This record gives sequence, structure tokens and C-alpha cells, in this order.
Amino acid sequence: MTLYPHLLQPLDLGHVVLPNRVLMGSMHTNLEETGDWNRVAEFYATRARGGVALMVTGGMAPNREGGVFPGAAGLFTPQDIANHRVVTDRVHDAGGRIAMQILHAGRYAYGPDCVSASAVKSPISPFAPKELDEDGIEKQIADIATAAARAREAGYDGVEVMGSEGYFLNQFLVTHVNRRTDRWGGSLENRQRLPVEVVKRVRQAVGPDFIVIYRISLIDLVPEGQTFDEVLQLAAKIEAAGASILNTGIGWHEARVPTIATSVPRAAFAWVTKKLMGHVGIPVITSNRINTPEVAEAVLAEGCADMVSMARPFLADPDFVAKAAAGRAAEIAPCIACNQACLDHTFGGKISSCLVNPRACFETELPTGPAPVAKTVAVVGAGPAGLAAALAAAERGHRVTLFEASDEIGGQLNMAKQVPGKEEFHDLVKWFATMLETTRIDLRLRTRATAAHLAAFDEVIVATGVLPRDPGIPVQDGAHVLSYVDVLRGAPVGKRVAIVGAGGIGFDVAEYLVEAESPTLHLEEWLQTWGVADPATARGGLAPEGPRPTPPARTVTLLQRKSEKPGRRLGKTTGWIHRASLQMKGVQMIGGVNYERITPEGIVVSHGAGRENPTLIPADTVVLCAGQEPLRDLAAALEAAGKPCHIIGGADVAAELDAKRAINQGTKISLKL
Ligand code: NAP
Ligand code: SF4
Repeated sequence: MTLYPHLLQPLDLGHVVLPNRVLMGSMHTNLEETGDWNRVAEFYATRARGGVALMVTGGMAPNREGGVFPGAAGLFTPQDIANHRVVTDRVHDAGGRIAMQILHAGRYAYGPDCVSASAVKSPISPFAPKELDEDGIEKQIADIATAAARAREAGYDGVEVMGSEGYFLNQFLVTHVNRRTDRWGGSLENRQRLPVEVVKRVRQAVGPDFIVIYRISLIDLVPEGQTFDEVLQLAAKIEAAGASILNTGIGWHEARVPTIATSVPRAAFAWVTKKLMGHVGIPVITSNRINTPEVAEAVLAEGCADMVSMARPFLADPDFVAKAAAGRAAEIAPCIACNQACLDHTFGGKISSCLVNPRACFETELPTGPAPVAKTVAVVGAGPAGLAAALAAAERGHRVTLFEASDEIGGQLNMAKQVPGKEEFHDLVKWFATMLETTRIDLRLRTRATAAHLAAFDEVIVATGVLPRDPGIPVQDGAHVLSYVDVLRGAPVGKRVAIVGAGGIGFDVAEYLVEAESPTLHLEEWLQTWGVADPATARGGLAPEGPRPTPPARTVTLLQRKSEKPGRRLGKTTGWIHRASLQMKGVQMIGGVNYERITPEGIVVSHGAGRENPTLIPADTVVLCAGQEPLRDLAAALEAAGKPCHIIGGADVAAELDAKRAINQGTKISLKL
């Protein structure tokens, strides 16, 4: 008896039966652009072996003007088709199925040749699109249909036509981008003509026995977005035009509502997909922030959809479905929705990977397998770096002892999990604990390892972490000063707070102090906070009254010495969410200060090289979030004893340390042992 009867139920699409209800959603990893097709093939084949029913590739451009950036990958030449054959063959050999996403970016194409319904620039692109004429529109349709035919030739099992997230087809649907007065604009029927025509022509191009998924925007989350009635009409027309499956799209890329970040509640938008159920005869897929088999099963059991799409969870763990089916769900490495190694990399022009699983997209670079000689390995420190090192070493057959001075594993992850909106870190720590058990690592909690303890081990890895930096600001008697560690461990904090340091941790602590309860755990409150309404009553799903956050629990001022905008260095795809969320709570952010002294009344700051204009920022408590210093006492003792060791994580370099670098370094060091 499986725990996931809905999730693991086959889905009959007529010409093919999918073995379960899990789709790996499209992700742009930048892998195709490497030109290393063996590597691309191994990425997908690894996931096919893990049991996912159907995968969708990253978006492939149908033509040069529609590519997300100049030079974006697509099926343009016979050689391209042959390259993609390498991928589809490998996936089929692994027992999987794969569809190619056709992504025409329209005005989101990052280049001067971009095109759209009208010449209306997007707020997230510097390029104004050219308005297409009739012939131009016909060319786009023909190019998309040709891309679909070539996908079939390349061995794909289907295509996904990207019609959501504010891309080309979505742009024609809404009046704020489509200002045309010809048969492609104006009335609803005219605005819907392009996506419907595209699906018709794609179906004609590929024949009946081929999967055609259409990704439909169910809630645009932009002003003048579609009403739900319009969405339902479009869905019916897309079905009639020949689509086999409707996949859900939530929000345009320019929407000011987070849709996939970690602070978005799990399955936060499944209720929107549920509104489509019963209105079409073809299967409907739901998506966004579904990251465990339990959540996926619940969504299906509640009738929100026929199938679930998960994308990033397959970076974190390619064996998601196989583990769920085998009753080993606790061993599924959780996607914590941080975007740090996937989307932030994609948008930074780097190859995507995963914070939790550095092997994602690096399957051929970081292969698994037993070490030539099994050794005894001591890892000191059970923070993310030490945990990753211990697991990777154990996987390779080494006998691993993991020393941890405190009474729990997790290190700094235990701080992160206290922050509202970062609840996923609980599951990450739990997963590490499960994996320590399954790999039979000898965990010694409450044990401060000394050089003497470590003398007999073949290899020693020092992952002793960091100490909070004391910025050395003069403190007057009676002042209340805490470090972020004290605060996140629950020390009492006054009503007015000044935070010294506006890095990732300063932002996290501010969030912790202004939220009485985490909105991430209360869907209704979260939707209200970000101004999301039912698209059946509010056009585009935007509440007419706008965002309505709850009042802040405290008055907080966030300070930094740099004169740049505070929070500028936070994650590429998530920084705006942290900034917006604190702004909504009235947090003042002040850059370019010098710290003069901390007094019982607050903190005195001055400005400029001349330390001018000293000003008191009133505060009952001042919290220090001024970065960290490496903790290397043990490394020094080992060196003095002549015992070689590997230093990783914060003990190696504390500056700008995050869990991504720690886990990556921990994994890689053990692959070398
Ligand atoms: P950080 O990002 O390096 O920020 C340290 C802050 O302290 C900066 O604002 C810095 O700004 C200030 N500072 C540094 N030295 C100081 C001094 N001597 N006196 C006063 N202020 C000083 O480090 P963090 O906030 O501790 O975070 C650690 C790492 O975890 C970072 O890499 C961070 O990105 C990561 N993290 C990421 C997230 C996320 O959401 N992605 C969340 C938490 C942590 P000034 O020098 O301008 O004053
Ligand atoms: Fe998920 Fe973060 Fe990994 Fe991306 S980097 S797949 S968001 S855990």
C-alpha cells in the first residue's frame, strides 16, 4: 500500500500512458549553451532513472528574435537536431519521457531585436520591443510550429508551448501590452487568436500521437491582467485547438508578487488551478512551491489538478519519485526554494546547480562511486559544510566520524530556520539527520574534538564554522546589545531595534523582529500581505486595495556603512522580495553611516569621512549582524601537532559564506579523498 496513491497513479493520455502524476517542470539551466550534449543528456537521464513520468526541457527559442537572450539555444540546424537526439535517446534508454519547451520570450527577450504585440517596453527589460506586422506574426507562428516539428524529429515525446509568465503569447492576451486594433488585438477573441492559432499549427505540425502541453497563465498578477472568465474561455479554445495537457503558469516575471521563493507558502497557488478543474476535458497540471510527496499527494487528493509539476525539487533530488514510491520519502533531499544555486545562477549567466545537491547539472563533473581506498575520515563540525563532507565521504565508502561540539547538528542552518519565511530549513536539517543515520556515520554530539582525538584518522576535515564578528563599537553602561545568535535563539528584544549590518543576516533578523507570526505558514494572510485576490473577482488576481501586511511587531532600523542601497547584494531573484517585505513593515534602511557609540537610548551614527552630523537612532535593543570571523583554533592545534587537515566552510573563508558555498566545498573535498 503506497502512501501516495494519487501521485503514483498512471495517467492515460491516449497514445501514451504516463506511469505517475509527476512532471518535471521546465528549468533553464544554461546547460544546453555549453554545447556539451553528453552532459545535458546525463542531467535528464539521471532524472528519468529517478522515476519522474515526464520531463520538460528548458525553454528552446523558436527563432532568433524570440530567444530569452541573444544566442539562446534552439533547434535551428540539422546539427541542433542531432545534438538533441543525444538527449532524447539517453532519456528513452533510461525509461523516461521528455518534452521540449518552446519559449518565445516576446518583449522579455533580452536584446534589441525583441518583438511583441505592441511597442510597449517591459519594466524588467531595457529593450522596447518592435510591434509585429501581420507578416511578422505569421512568421512567429510558423517558427513555433517548425520548432515543434523539429522537436519530434529530434526524438522528443512532446512539446510544451510556453504561454504564461508574461512571455510572447501571454503578452497578446492583455490590453496593457496588446494595443493593436487589427485582428490580433482589441476584442478578447482577437487577443486570444495568437495562442490558439499557435496550438492549432503546432498540432498540425506534429500529428496526433505527440504530447502538446500548453502552459496557460491562470493568474497574471499584473495590472490589466486576464479575468478568470477570460482564462476559462482561452483554456477551452486551447483544448479544442489540440493541446493534450494544460500546465499552470502563475504570475508574469514582472509581477511584484513572489511566486516561487521560499517565503511563498507550499502549494500556495493550487487553489487557482483547482478553479480550472472541470472546465476542460484534458488533464490539468498544477505547480509552484510543491516540494514534498505529501504536499503533492494532498494537492491531487483535494482535486486541485490531475498532475503536479515540480522543477527545482528535481535539482535537489533526481530520485524524488523513486524514493517516494519505495517508502523512503524522508531521504528525499528537500528543495528549500532558495533560488541561490539555480535561478540566481541562470540569471547570472552561470550553469544552474542546487544548494542542497551540488551534483545537479554537474553529473558528469562530480560523479559518485566508491573511493579507490576506504579510509577513516574525521569531520569536525556538523554545520552544512561538515554535514555535506561527511555524507559525501560515507557515500564513497569511507568510515566517517562526525564530531559536533553542540547537542544538535545543523550549525548556522539552525539560525536560518528561525526566520519567518525560511521554515524550509527545518526540513533540510531533518534530511541531514536522516542521511547521517542511513549512511551509518558515527555522530558524536557534545564532543569538542581535539588534536589528540584526531591523530589516528587517515583524513581530517575541519568544518568548525564561524564566530559572529564584534564590530568594536563603544558601548555605554546600561545599553542593551545582542548578537544575531542571541536574538535567533530567543533572547528578549525591545520594541525599538537598531540592527548593525544589512547583509543577509541583518535582513533575516529584521524579518524575525517585525513578524509576530510567519505569513508563510498562513496562506490567507500571505495572500493578503502581497495583495493577491481571487482572479474570478479581481482582474489579474490583484486585490484592488493592494498589499495589506499586518502591522509590524517592532520598529526596526537597518544600518550599514556602505553608501549603496541596503540589500543590493542579496540574491538576484529574491533580494527584491526581502527588500519589499521589510519596506511593507516600515523598516527604515540607512546606508553610509559610521557607528559612534551604543547608549541606553539607542545608537549614535555619523555621516561621511568627517564623521559629521552625529544622530541618535532611538532603540531599546541594538543587534549586531556585522558578519563573521573564521573559527580556526582546532586547525591551528592540528598544524602545531603536525597533523595535516582540510579546512572547509566558514573556518576556511568566513566572508560572504553561505550554505551554498559550504555544501559545495564539503561535497567536493570528500570526492577527492
Ligand atoms: P554579510 O552579508 O557579509 O553582511 C555583513 C554586514 O555587516 C554587512 O552589512 C556589512 O556592511 C556589515 N559589517 C561588516 N563588517 C563590519 C564591521 N566591522 N562593523 C560594522 N558592520 C560591519 O554577512 P552576513 O549578513 O553575516 O551573512 C553571512 C552570509 O550568509 C552572507 O554571504 C549572506 O549572503 C548569507 N546569507 C544569505 C541569506 C539569503 O537570504 N540569501 C540570508 C542570510 C545569510 P558594511 O560593511 O557596509 O557596514
Ligand atoms: Fe531548490 Fe535552492 Fe536547490 Fe534551487 S538551489 S533547487 S531553490 S534548494
